[in-house]
Amino acid sequence: PNTEIREGTQVEERTFVYLKPNTIQRQLVGEVIRRFERRGLKIVGMKMLWMSKEQAVELYKEHIGKDFYEPLIKFVTSGPVVAMVLEGPHAIELVRHTIGNTDPLKASGGTIRGDYAISVRKNIVHASDSLESATREISLFFKAEELFDYPLLLEEHF
Ligand code: UDP
Repeated sequence: PNTEIREGTQVEERTFVYLKPNTIQRQLVGEVIRRFERRGLKIVGMKMLWMSKEQAVELYKEHIGKDFYEPLIKFVTSGPVVAMVLEGPHAIELVRHTIGNTDPLKASGGTIRGDYAISVRKNIVHASDSLESATREISLFFKAEELFDYPLLLEEHF
């Protein structure tokens, strides 16, 4: 799917997204997923899971040693999350724009973080930031048979 074409020139990509534990606690799951759906992204995989310490360490290995690392690992393993794989043209960059800046102080209104987050750590949602991380993160949380190839009947209207 990362190399398929939807409209001739657009690159079809898959990206990994998960709603952080505070989003489940704040009962914002529907709100957040709704924004991805409205954008025109296709949900090709989705599940609730409680991240293991090992998964969290692997996911955030680039941040090992930073001051926010230990509290981050503790936070993301503190309760269940909702993980998904979203597909669409330029999905990786598109989703990053949709969620907004990591720091809610810098996130524009209209983005998910800009509208719902007040803390950097508890910034509602994670999304892959490159093709390499998307591929790595999807395989860390999803088996091939948990991802679905299907047409969205309204695709031509997006
Ligand atoms: N984070 C934090 N303090 C910081 C920077 C990051 O608690 O100063 C947390 C925050 O939850 C962020 C995650 O670490 O989403 C990963 O950081 P990254 O810079 O990769 O941001 P993201 O890709 O999530 O926007």
